[in-house]
Amino acid sequence: MKKDLVFEKTNLWTKYEGKDRDKVFDYASDYMEFLKNSKTERLTLKYLKNLSIKKDFSEDGRKKFFIVNKNKNIAFIKIGKISPLEGIKLIGSHSDSPRIDLKQNPLYEKDGIAHFKTHYYGGIKKYHYLSRPLSLYGVIFTKDNREIEIMIGDNDNDPVFTINDLLPHLSRTQYEKSLKDAFEGEKLNIIVGSIPLKDEKENSVKKMILKILNEKYGIIEEDFVSAELEIVPQGSVFDIGFDRSLVGGYGHDDRVCAFSSTTALFESNNKHTVCSILFDKEEVGSTGATGARSLFLEDIIIEILKREKIEPTYENLRKVLKNSDFISADVSAGIDPDFPEVHEQQNGAKIGYGTVVTKFTGSAGKSGANDANAEYVSKIRKILSENNVSWQAAELGKVDAGGGGTIAAFLAFFNSNVIDCGPAVLSMHSPFEIVSKVDLYETFKAYKAFFEN
Ligand code: MN
Ligand code: MN
Repeated sequence: MKKDLVFEKTNLWTKYEGKDRDKVFDYASDYMEFLKNSKTERLTLKYLKNLSIKKDFSEDGRKKFFIVNKNKNIAFIKIGKISPLEGIKLIGSHSDSPRIDLKQNPLYEKDGIAHFKTHYYGGIKKYHYLSRPLSLYGVIFTKDNREIEIMIGDNDNDPVFTINDLLPHLSRTQYEKSLKDAFEGEKLNIIVGSIPLKDEKENSVKKMILKILNEKYGIIEEDFVSAELEIVPQGSVFDIGFDRSLVGGYGHDDRVCAFSSTTALFESNNKHTVCSILFDKEEVGSTGATGARSLFLEDIIIEILKREKIEPTYENLRKVLKNSDFISADVSAGIDPDFPEVHEQQNGAKIGYGTVVTKFTGSAGKSGANDANAEYVSKIRKILSENNVSWQAAELGKVDAGGGGTIAAFLAFFNSNVIDCGPAVLSMHSPFEIVSKVDLYETFKAYKAFFEN
């Protein structure tokens, strides 16, 4: 029997030469254009929704349609010839990324400088966000329900924002702290201005900011209470290296899977009904109505049944879910050559060596893991092999080095088959994450093969 070299890893670039290599680069440049324009979960949704409309998807389509949930998560569906009661093929990714959110009452002035108070979102290393340009994105809803969209920092001539850091000359006490204690969440305050409003004695700089906001956006201070404003790394998406083999940018986790699973769905020649869902809130535990722990998934299945003229009874809903195969599409950690001590070489993922299939995640004894059953791993393995997909079997890092989870366990709650699959990332959760273009392409191929088989 043919071996798939899952255990004997090979550098995938050797598989892609000439015209094949062009395909890898072309797909990556489409991805980079997407990532540049998708700095929040709402913008990710918008970009892929617009892309789907170009592929003849619509809200009320019969065979190709999308369902939007509270402007923060979306499902793309393509109906197949096989009845959904025999199971569908679903890939779930997440469109939120670690970042810094504004507090509900954010604006204050101190020592002549106006700031926004923040509360970070997801697992960030706080020092990554100091002394660097930052952008502000999000929405504000006024009391009369007017929506104001904010996008400041990434267009030409935009101002940016920043968090100041302590100078080395006065850092003696800070240097003696552990890394965990040296940077405090309450000190992640965003500089937003320093000119005082004329003839004002108290809080004159703050008042100037409010005046500008009112003139530009028609908002008052209290409107912050009904806003979702996100501070994200300013800047574009770049090729990395002389050979341009890697992509650097903010938000690969997990927009790389949102893009590759959704474009794979567009391209797939599917027999089963296929679905790609972008979930929100993964980075804070998949909670909330737009997270993977909500029943939005059931709403989607009911909608599929209705459009296929099948009675959406509870029994039929259960039939679809228990017969379905899912991929939890999320990134894995690539082996970091500078930190070999946290990786176990034999079961770690190498950058540029193919997409990563992860049977179990979790930490401290697989705690919180989905742990796909062997029968399902075998089924996935066969699909990848027959479609010439290069992949690696890996886990996040060394046992007891730490750990993490994905949406896999929440999807498995429905009694469906679930496994994790996605590309490996370097500098995960940093403002400038790295993926390999060849891993991105192989991930797209893996998702497409999954949808088609
Ligand atoms: Mn993720
Ligand atoms: Mn993450």
